[in-house]
Amino acid sequence: MDRIPINRIELQMQSKGENVSFARIAIAALASQLDITLNDLEEIKVATSEAVSNAIIHGYQNKTEYMVKVIGTLYEDELILEIIDEGVGIADIKQAMQPAFTSDPERMGLGFVFMQSFMDKVEVESKTNCGTKVILHKNIGSAGAAKKAVS
Ligand code: ATP
Ligand code: MG
Repeated sequence: MDRIPINRIELQMQSKGENVSFARIAIAALASQLDITLNDLEEIKVATSEAVSNAIIHGYQNKTEYMVKVIGTLYEDELILEIIDEGVGIADIKQAMQPAFTSDPERMGLGFVFMQSFMDKVEVESKTNCGTKVILHKNIGSAGAAKKAVS
């Protein structure tokens, strides 16, 4: 049976670094509608920033005239974020997600590491020259606590 979301937001912002904070704040406000720990909230904010930054820096290669979409869907025990760009895409997703892999020698290659360690599940869909969708899942409240207790 399909779960019914408690709330859902969709943001579209120009591909500018200044806009990363809008995504962070909006997603934090959404997540705060559940009984969430400050630690979980911080982790969600970092993961959101990493995914949106990647869309701007890599997807759109720092060109500022494109749009990044962020969809946040809140269930009673889970937050799901979708970060979508229509940029260059990722040719080899597995390689891109390897710790310390980067296509830019100036960077650390840690964005996906943060997303994976701070969120409960990270999915990436991408097609070269079409764009990338990163889907981040975070269990919240008793669902998150129960999962941590057995892991
Ligand atoms: P850091 O996040 O530490 O600044 P980084 O962005 O290179 O460095 P990751 O965020 O882990 O590291 O991303 C790894 C690689 O995946 C990037 O270098 C880039 O090649 C590719 N990548 C990630 N997101 C996208 C995207 N939205 N579009 C195209 N390529 C991407
Ligand atoms: Mg990155």
